[in-house]
Amino acid sequence: MNYKEFLQVLGNTDPICFLDNKIKISLEDVPKYIDKYNIYFIPNIGGSKKEDITEFKTFFVDLDAGKDSKGNFLPGKTVKKYKSEQWKKINDFSIQPNIVNETRNGLHLYWFIKEKITPELWQRIEDALVKWFGGDTNTKNAAKQLRLPGSVWRKDPKYPEYPCKVLKENDIYTYIASYCKLFNISESITQTTSEKKNARFRYAKPTATKSKSISPRVFTNYKQLFDYLTKEISMFDYLQEFHNLVGNNQRSFCCIIHPDKHPSASIFKVDSGVELYCCNATSCGFKGNIIQVVSELKECSRSEAISIICKNLNIEYKVDTRLKSILEDNKHTITDDIQYSHTDLYNSMYRYTKTLKELHDIAIDSLEYSSTAGKFLFTSSIQHIAQRMGKRDKKKTSTDIAFLCLLKLIEKVDLDTDADVPKEYEKYVKRFQNKHNKDNYITVFSIPSYTYKVLTECE
Ligand SMILES: [Zn+2]
Repeated sequence: MNYKEFLQVLGNTDPICFLDNKIKISLEDVPKYIDKYNIYFIPNIGGSKKEDITEFKTFFVDLDAGKDSKGNFLPGKTVKKYKSEQWKKINDFSIQPNIVNETRNGLHLYWFIKEKITPELWQRIEDALVKWFGGDTNTKNAAKQLRLPGSVWRKDPKYPEYPCKVLKENDIYTYIASYCKLFNISESITQTTSEKKNARFRYAKPTATKSKSISPRVFTNYKQLFDYLTKEISMFDYLQEFHNLVGNNQRSFCCIIHPDKHPSASIFKVDSGVELYCCNATSCGFKGNIIQVVSELKECSRSEAISIICKNLNIEYKVDTRLKSILEDNKHTITDDIQYSHTDLYNSMYRYTKTLKELHDIAIDSLEYSSTAGKFLFTSSIQHIAQRMGKRDKKKTSTDIAFLCLLKLIEKVDLDTDADVPKEYEKYVKRFQNKHNKDNYITVFSIPSYTYKVLTECE
């Protein structure tokens, strides 16, 4: 994690910075000096004096191994031992810090604040944290300058430079109320309650008990899962909870795909109802749905991104691989087998194989129920099929389909008369049909498994 990424998760992307605790500089100037100076920053917002702080972004504790009696820094080995003792303390503490920044001489702990908090309450909790950890008591100042994570420790030329590293990241925020409970601080003395809780963030539960496991939401159909993830999940909330997006307004926030100083990104819904992430920075220009965003952030494949989102949101995606493989088999039969085994059939249909294969792909994407007759049901509009065929005209697509129906390679299903259609599926389709106009009318198709016998009947 570099300093920009750190500031992003802290929620203060333009802090007051200092060279060697003395010369005030802006964040923009940091790259110029980072190779020569010790860089400090003030994590909280408002000014460089305690009484000027208006926005509290974090509690912090400075665990410092100190110096020997002659004022020399302790040898590396001793400091290492000190640090490992501190790690034990950290792991024992019931509220885990969001960030642990390791410096040459110790560890800096940060607990981020995502609620409004009064200066009085901030100080009470800060004091309690410093006391519990036995941290540097000079660090209890709300406008304290701390070493910028990702910068370099070079306090004394006698000692080698030491790059500071973020060693622990934790994206679970803790309610102020939980600190109060832990340290036995009365919340009422301080907090004006209206702004206390902010449900957009993922908080650890105020009680120590682990939350009960809730049964997952199950999807067996790719299309439904896709619609749910891209249309019903709030991408803004999701990225705040799981990907360090910071902001109040989904129309304008700092991009998390590229290092962004000024808000260049926004999320909006397109006509189809899908939410799109859009970055306006010319250097970035990223545009995509939630799956694409996660795939970009995690540098993983599309399907891996889907499983990450599902895991985070407690969604189970069960693909019926048996049904899918029968449809895949059909596709191979069309290309490899029919022309020799059922020559007449092949001669009548080969001009429509592209359409037929596309219909199989649509079926695979939307696979959910098979009717009792062992046929695979799927829905689509002619317009959608034409689009998938490369924006072909609807009439041609419609003719192709009519011909394939005639050959019985596919079938149009009438929900009202076909007794084989499961009731649940019928309800699902009818809900969709009502939502769409005539132009985009959704038809139910079925595809049989292309066994030798079935193909002979088609022929
Ligand atoms: Zn961007």
